[in-house]
Amino acid sequence: MITQLTATEINTALRAKKVSVKEVTEAFLKRIENFDEEYGAYLALCPERALAEAEAAQAKIDAGDSGPLVGVPIAHKDNISTQGVETTCASKILQGYVPPYDATVVENCREAGMVLLGKTNLDEFAMGTSGENSALRLTRNPWDTDRVPGGSSAGSAAAVSAELACLATGSDTGGSIRMPASLTGLVGFKPTYGRVSRYGLVAFGSSLDQIGPFAKTVEDCSLFAEAMSGYDRKDSTSLQGSKISSADLKTGSLKGKKIALPRELFTDAIDPGVRESVEIAIDVLTREGVDFHEITLPSINYGVTTYYIIAPAEASSNLAKFDGVRFGSRVESTGHVEGFAATRGKLFGPEVKLRIMVGTYALSAGYYDAYYHRAQQVRGLMAAEFEQAFQEYDCILSPASPVTAFKIGEMVDDPMKLKLLDLCTIPANMGGFPSLSLPSSLAGDLPVGILLTGPVMGDEKLLQTAYNIDRALGRDYRRPPIL
Ligand code: GLN
Repeated sequence: MITQLTATEINTALRAKKVSVKEVTEAFLKRIENFDEEYGAYLALCPERALAEAEAAQAKIDAGDSGPLVGVPIAHKDNISTQGVETTCASKILQGYVPPYDATVVENCREAGMVLLGKTNLDEFAMGTSGENSALRLTRNPWDTDRVPGGSSAGSAAAVSAELACLATGSDTGGSIRMPASLTGLVGFKPTYGRVSRYGLVAFGSSLDQIGPFAKTVEDCSLFAEAMSGYDRKDSTSLQGSKISSADLKTGSLKGKKIALPRELFTDAIDPGVRESVEIAIDVLTREGVDFHEITLPSINYGVTTYYIIAPAEASSNLAKFDGVRFGSRVESTGHVEGFAATRGKLFGPEVKLRIMVGTYALSAGYYDAYYHRAQQVRGLMAAEFEQAFQEYDCILSPASPVTAFKIGEMVDDPMKLKLLDLCTIPANMGGFPSLSLPSSLAGDLPVGILLTGPVMGDEKLLQTAYNIDRALGRDYRRPPIL
């Protein structure tokens, strides 16, 4: 079936004229129609736009344009602006908001010939770890529909894993690409901060946010990252020379690679099944000649608490613009101020309100130094500690998530436990480092992700290492068993 193929395989079939872009697009749309009710991956579909883009892609192929992702059907997370297609951030406050422009990432993907199928579900405003904070829809894990897919990019992970899109974008502020990738058996990549434009991404924590790819293979992931990346003058934090290159992806070797294993991410906080899967991989890679060293990065222990000051602080200011006047829905009231309060009070979900309150508190006079400033200092320390490690090691390896996919509803009464699950992924956002989750062996019947984190601008090297690790582990892409 076409929908089972990787992006590279689809592109090859298209160029060999074995199938047309229209046929590929329709196959995915059909599958979404048949199965998305079960998975809940999408919030909106744009079949007309998809067919128009399919036509444009076909013209490129017919003209001999051999771009590696031409004609590949994709989905965008619904906090990424799409012209003419509703963009809600899975929040009631943005229902009905149709952006007048495309995010740079959306533009880049279209220029690379990809076909947009629709927009995927997420934790409201990307705030969450399980996917359960969407105000609009519940997304299920294709490996076991009683379980969460992970968040916040829940719909993107479910869409690619359930073969309802070939590739999908996510955004990652504290792990929102890598967590769901690890819980659904996909490759998920957060590039170096500044390599993919944030223009058109609805901001959550602006100093942490980064857009990146979900894919089934490292090769697809790298090509997709390449297509979406590049300097953008519309994003003031965009880096010059930021285009990611896949040219050397399949070169290099694991022999003599120096990889660090931080003791702080191999403790009892990690479920035994997850630890075992990662340790099996480490054994295999040791035999391949990887030189592993246990190190200590003590600042990791402060990551979650620090992140949950900085991210809400930035969110509280970023979300101030949603007042019922400029964007989306509005609750009518007696006056302006009452209208703001009624709109924000009724239309933001509980987690979003919690973050706005915590963030506002942390930034308020008298508490700024004690909380926000302090958190920024710890953040600096953490980045420095990691940078020091990268002087000596090619990258850092750990589990991506302390747990495998858990039951829907299992953690809703324990928000602290849920937030602690971000332990492994947060440091990369703090330092702007590239970081990737890669499937290792299953624990029980569920996927486990290995996390690789490298130095700033080391994206290509990290992807190359991931490619070689994947090959050494001899992992064929595994489809969820219930498909
Ligand atoms: N789980 C983290 C949070 O809830 C990270 C979310 C994200 O990366 N967008 O904030």
